[in-house]
Amino acid sequence: MHRKCLIAGNWKMNNGLSESVSLVESINKRIADMRDVDVVVCPPFVSLSDVYKCIKQSLTMLGAQNMYPEAKGAFTGEISYTMLRDCGVSYVILGHSERRQLFGETNEFINRKVLAALSNNLLPILCVGETESERESGETFKVIDEEIRECLDNISAAQSEKLTIAYEPIWAIGTGKTATPEVAQEVHAHIRQVLGDLFGHKIADSIRILYGGSMKSSNAGELLKQPDIDGGLIGGASLQATEFCKIIEIANGLE
Ligand code: PEP
Repeated sequence: MHRKCLIAGNWKMNNGLSESVSLVESINKRIADMRDVDVVVCPPFVSLSDVYKCIKQSLTMLGAQNMYPEAKGAFTGEISYTMLRDCGVSYVILGHSERRQLFGETNEFINRKVLAALSNNLLPILCVGETESERESGETFKVIDEEIRECLDNISAAQSEKLTIAYEPIWAIGTGKTATPEVAQEVHAHIRQVLGDLFGHKIADSIRILYGGSMKSSNAGELLKQPDIDGGLIGGASLQATEFCKIIEIANGLE
């Protein structure tokens, strides 16, 4: 099964309005004719509308970094799926390890977000991954199985076709340590197996599984060549247009 590569840039809490606009403009100029890769940029909430104005005539898509699982109400400081749709958002990152570790998000809460996104026309990028000590104690698959099964509870097979999963080993995020292509492939293949148990192997074969964790142009080629790695969720390297575009070019050139 051929899965088109997806490269998503997670800008995290970086770039004000004018920096967001100039970054997306330089990215878009360089990738205008790359049709064999899907590209998503995920700026901070306050830049979504301005970034959308820059990309709406292009193939680049807009993503958000988080979402609250209700349409509206007394949830001070939160942003709903309807608000994201209004800003032109197509994708939403859910369950990022920074949300889990710094803001106490649980699998149960993330599951509510995944369900709300899928029911409201947003495409979730669900992040899963183990800590360094979980890997060292041989618990990687156990942790990932639990995250996938609990975050995807009550999702129908039809809805599951809209999912993207990001495998992000926590020890590799922002650390400069990258999983080797073999280590990442092993986990990606396992994730596809779990998705197959949940939704059937035909659907599991069609779901994109991205790798995230210090991906950059120097390691992207080897990672993206692996049979179950279908793209990247890029943090640090997505903040520099040249570096991010190099990764997109690599993905665009894959068979
Ligand atoms: C991320 O936070 O999603 C990420 C992959 O970050 P980095 O590329 O900086 O490791």
